[in-house]
This record gives sequence, C-alpha cells and structure tokens, in this order.
Amino acid sequence: MKPSFLKKIFWGLGCLALILSCQNTPTPKPTPVVKKMVSPPKKKAKKRSYPRLPGFINIQALDPTIVLDIRYATTENFTGEVIYDCPACYLRPDVAQALASVNRKLRKKGIGIKVFDCYRPRPAQQRLWDKVPNPSYVTPPAKGSMHNRGMAVDLTIFDIKAMRELYMGSSYDFFGLKAHTDYTGLSQKVIDHRKILHDAMIEAGFRGIRTEWWHYYFKGPIDELSSVEWECR
Ligand SMILES: [Zn+2]
Repeated sequence: MKPSFLKKIFWGLGCLALILSCQNTPTPKPTPVVKKMVSPPKKKAKKRSYPRLPGFINIQALDPTIVLDIRYATTENFTGEVIYDCPACYLRPDVAQALASVNRKLRKKGIGIKVFDCYRPRPAQQRLWDKVPNPSYVTPPAKGSMHNRGMAVDLTIFDIKAMRELYMGSSYDFFGLKAHTDYTGLSQKVIDHRKILHDAMIEAGFRGIRTEWWHYYFKGPIDELSSVEWECR
C-alpha cells in the first residue's frame, strides 16, 4: 500500500469523525422570541347598582341575564304612551326567585327570557286606566291586579344563539283570539313555543291566564297592593 493512499484514508476517517462529532453536538435551540401579550388594562366590570325598593327585588340584580323590554316605559304599548318613567323589573322576593329559576332551567336549553312588565305600581295602573278605562283590557285600579302586588310578570322567550324571539302567534298586548291560550288556529310551532314557556313557568309555581299567553302570576301567599314607585337612574 502506498503511503499516500494510507494518508488519504486517515484524512477521510478524521473528517468522518469530525462530522459525526458535529452531528452529536446538540444544536442550540434558538431562543424563542416570546411575544409579550400586552393586553389592554382590564376595565373593571362596572357593577350596576339598582335602587332599592322596600319589599321587592330587582330581577336584574338577582339575574342579569334576564332581558328587559319594559314596554310601558316606552310608547311601544297598546296605549301608545309612556306609563312608567323608566324601565325596571321589580318583583316580590319569592316571585323573583321563582322567575330566576325558570331562566336558569331554560338557559340550559339555549332559551332566554325577556320580560315586558313586572311590578306595576298603582299610580301606573291609574295612568293605564285613565288612557283605557275598559275593564276588558285594564284592571280597575280600585280592584288592583297581580301586577300591582308584584306577583305577576309578562314575558316571552328567545333563542339565545340566534338572539331572536320565539314566535308566539301574536305580539305582546294583542287583545284578540290569537293571544288566547285555547285558540285553536295556532301553528304547531307556536303551540310548541308557548308550551316551552308554559311548562317552565308552571313548574316554578306560576299560573297562566286564558286570554294572554304572556301573562303569568305566582301562586303563593297573596301580597298586598302597592303604590311605591322606583327611583329612576
Ligand atoms: Zn300581565
């Protein structure tokens, strides 16, 4: 064997060893560039406070997921006039707790509740009566209604995901057959929607009435009529 050939072999082995040793050397990992997630300073959730009303509970203080659409605080009601100064839903404590339980159960099924009217102070009942002095539509203030006791609620239900009300066959405060619970001309869809609301309310201790699909009163010890009005904020 020629010495030059042996030289080449040693060179080759040397290089191979070098390559292998390089491969075994752990490659230093690049220092990860940590992007600091600079989040905007968290705004403290503004905790709403609600005016206290002796003997009543503000439903949104109890359950803020209950949606309010208090029609008598707007002109969008059957009188076409504002009856309350500001929107709010107050109920007697046991009634409020029962309504919150309805909401909790329905929300598990993807359904929310929206209230149109709750406690209605007697002066508001008087204003309604002054606009529409017809006992077929408005309870005379002297007699008083379950709303004046804080024991009734007008409400509907909505699909939470779609944020759309479930059609009930008539608008709120529609005075006619289509609003009746025993009306036979309703579509199956409307019957189903009303049943969802009805079953949930009955289970929580409420009762409905024949002429208004939206009206439920609490079946418990009767609270007295009240004239106290809430403070606007
Ligand atoms: Zn009602």
